[in-house]
Amino acid sequence: MAECDHNCANCSSKCEGAPKYFNLNEYSHIKHIVGVVSGKGGVGKSATTTLLACELAKEGYKVGILDADITGPSIPKSFGLKTGLSGNQNLMFPQISKLGIKIVSINLLLEHQDDPVLWRGPVVGSAIKQFYEDVLWEDLDYLLIDMPPGTGDVALTIFQSIPLDGVIIVSTPQDLVKMIVGKAVKMAEKMNISILGLIENMSYIKCPKCEEIIYPFGPSKLTEVSMEYNITPLGNMPIDPNLTTLVDEGKIEDYDTTFLKDIVDKIEDKMKIKLRRI
Ligand code: ADP
Repeated sequence: MAECDHNCANCSSKCEGAPKYFNLNEYSHIKHIVGVVSGKGGVGKSATTTLLACELAKEGYKVGILDADITGPSIPKSFGLKTGLSGNQNLMFPQISKLGIKIVSINLLLEHQDDPVLWRGPVVGSAIKQFYEDVLWEDLDYLLIDMPPGTGDVALTIFQSIPLDGVIIVSTPQDLVKMIVGKAVKMAEKMNISILGLIENMSYIKCPKCEEIIYPFGPSKLTEVSMEYNITPLGNMPIDPNLTTLVDEGKIEDYDTTFLKDIVDKIEDKMKIKLRRI
């Protein structure tokens, strides 16, 4: 037997005390699973998940998004996807975006996209189990999981049941959020999940007339917060009204994501595995 490297995600040995992960179906193989987390809602976690998925897809990777923000799902709308998931007796088929990103979200199963999901934690947990186990993901380089905000029950289920390679934390430069980043960091550490780094969203806005850079939430806290919690600062994202417009129009894939190249490179380095680019 190979020497134990304490990475249970890719190991078939049935050790006592090893985590009991959900079982991926036999038709799917996922190389890397990355969770995108935030301590609270509204910081741009879903927008970041979406943009990272687009950049990875543009770089030639096979990408999927599992929208685990079951009570506040916003991924399908930004891709302009209409409700409806097909399947056969055993498996659900994800919807596929223009860039080829495979997407599964509760919003694709609701009769109306604005129907609320009024489910308690265990029911939400079982929906996520089905989205992981019963979806025909086929071969993916990356599955990004848009996590529910906060450190509650459902986030805990995902941390315990899906073999994550790591998480990316998204924050904004507000002081309050800094404390909340700490909660997300400590939760990941307690659950032995590696933290790939911190992305600061809404760091600044460029005046469309004079190009002056304005810091509506004060100066960036990316370096300070990253040092405080000993995590990697992955980069900043500006506030961009064009992004909001494209999200509202369901055309997020038209957004220029080249600025995320550096962040993607850092994530890959952090995972110590460079995938072959197509
Ligand atoms: P969360 O997933 O953290 O709840 P969202 O990603 O849904 O947050 O973002 C909340 C709102 O803010 C959405 O309407 C989204 O389009 C918008 N938004 C997020 N990040 C940016 C940004 N950098 N520039 C402009 N709008 C943004």
